[in-house]
Amino acid sequence: MKSKQSAEGMWTTYPTELGEETSLNRTLTLYVIKPFNPWGSTLCTCPPKYSLHPYTGCSHRCLYCYATSYIGLKYSTPKSNYLRRLQYDIKRVNPKLPINMSTSSDPYPPEELQYRLTRKTLEILIPLGFKILITTKNTIFLRDLSILAKGNVAITLTLTTLDENLASKIEPNTPKPKDRLKAIEKAIQHGIPVGVRLDPIIPYLNDDPVEIRELVDTVSSIGVKFIVTSTYKVRPDNFKRMIAAFPEIEYRWRRLYYIDGEYRDNYRYLPLNMRMKLLKIVIDCARRSKLSYATCREGLTSKEWFNAKSCDGTHLIPLKIKPTIHKYNMRKLSQYSN
Ligand code: SF4
Repeated sequence: MKSKQSAEGMWTTYPTELGEETSLNRTLTLYVIKPFNPWGSTLCTCPPKYSLHPYTGCSHRCLYCYATSYIGLKYSTPKSNYLRRLQYDIKRVNPKLPINMSTSSDPYPPEELQYRLTRKTLEILIPLGFKILITTKNTIFLRDLSILAKGNVAITLTLTTLDENLASKIEPNTPKPKDRLKAIEKAIQHGIPVGVRLDPIIPYLNDDPVEIRELVDTVSSIGVKFIVTSTYKVRPDNFKRMIAAFPEIEYRWRRLYYIDGEYRDNYRYLPLNMRMKLLKIVIDCARRSKLSYATCREGLTSKEWFNAKSCDGTHLIPLKIKPTIHKYNMRKLSQYSN
């Protein structure tokens, strides 16, 4: 168990499947499989894990994207010497820890159809028994279903709305919600656990309780067992994109985020009571549908807000293949450990 200070004003514990025996050795030189860095967020409740990005930037161009304020607004570009650097890293990482593809870009941008870097990564990592969490908005992972189904793999797929018009505005280069639903269903039919990220909830855009209920009921009906949710946080660059697309809401957003809200960890948050109200809509629906639930970077970690074994979905990863490079790797790790 790990401790974090919550926005509810007290220290709480949050569950981590991985327990104390897992560790991230931050002193090793790693090139592409990096210890996950939540951009300095003190509210992040992710368990220890690695992040792996075959691409830099993201062609999906979601208006609310947080990554762009750190890496700029770029289309997905393959990392140079990516596969060589991957081969180097896999001998050095702790095989007990999950690898999240990806945390600040999408591993299945349209460019993946041409470069196949994510596919090649899976072909290397899966037979070695690595635990992999795929986080995506795209349905291109359907191409890789047969290999994904064999491995220690779970998927979290982002679905912020079922409204096609709204989705095409806020997530312009991603598949339609109905296609994402079909992809989730197919993955589950292939034995791959899938969680849903209803993230972010944006005031006045996708916060209608009836629509949220429909979304949660729909994903539950196709076999999803876990949902994680979070409210939209303002960074200067994502806010510019949001108000350019929705000028009629600018005044109300400014009031909520810049006057009534709070500034925390370099983000502007909604006022706590409003965050609780929006998140509660999702949590109540999840409870009714018997889904486990979590909130992401909200500081709300008590059972009322967070009953899943992890916030990021790593607890969904099944153990189908035992790690085969474990012993070799652990010897290596002990050479480097403090
Ligand atoms: S898919 Fe994720 S990383 Fe890509 S643009 Fe959208 S929010 Fe940003």
